[in-house]
Amino acid sequence: MADVKLTQVRKSFGDVDVIRGVDLDIKHGEFVVFVGPSGCGKSTLLRAISGLEDITSGELRIGEQVMNHVDPSKRGIAMVFQSYALYPHMTVRENMGFALKHAGVAKAEVATKVDAAANILGLGPLMERKPKALSGGQRQRVAIGRAIVRDPQVFLFDEPLSNLDAELRVHMRIEIARLHRELGSTIIYVTHDQVEAMTLADKIVVLRAGVVEQVGAPLELYDNPANTFVAGFIGSPR
Ligand code: ADP
Ligand code: MG
Repeated sequence: MADVKLTQVRKSFGDVDVIRGVDLDIKHGEFVVFVGPSGCGKSTLLRAISGLEDITSGELRIGEQVMNHVDPSKRGIAMVFQSYALYPHMTVRENMGFALKHAGVAKAEVATKVDAAANILGLGPLMERKPKALSGGQRQRVAIGRAIVRDPQVFLFDEPLSNLDAELRVHMRIEIARLHRELGSTIIYVTHDQVEAMTLADKIVVLRAGVVEQVGAPLELYDNPANTFVAGFIGSPR
């Protein structure tokens, strides 16, 4: 079971304290959304969970294991970025299989996993294309596919839809909700889009300047915001 638990997590760059004592308890299978103004530390917190950044102090657990200094590839997580970060010279199939191949997984098993992910995401007809021959939404789907094949315990999404136009964003939001239902994995998702947060989240974490202001189900925050900052962010009239 991949519960994610943060205890008094801090992250500083030089003498700038970006994450300032965050406690979080995320249950296996939960869809948790981080919201907060630009620069409040959402990406830094996500990167700290992924291991792309080392935390300065505190404790990070994924499942039973303390992950503070564990290599990102050994944390059972997969991260999907806003920029997709696909390899331009590889086909969709190669992009999706690359991490597994690199980790020494047998060719036949790579093919099985890639096909299964392609199936879930409706990528079948696009498998031999290069990224430049794909639309934004298709590219984002490949980036998600690349995460799925690794069968992570926890998916981390950093504003995955913000480069898409409004219509596609709605469509992909529905896809991501469906994916969560089908895979049952834990998802930690950063967005500045209130509608995405309200519709996707089991639990919303409101951040301000590296501190958690409030955690709760979307309607809890909407009905009972802890302060005017949360109210302003979640859109309650109070
Ligand atoms: P958000 O994703 O909420 O917009 P970030 O986590 O990207 O915010 O950034 C939070 C703060 O940390 C910002 O002030 C940013 O400038 C700073 N920061 C992020 N990464 C670094 C870094 N590698 N070095 C120094 N400062 C950083
Ligand atoms: Mg960010």
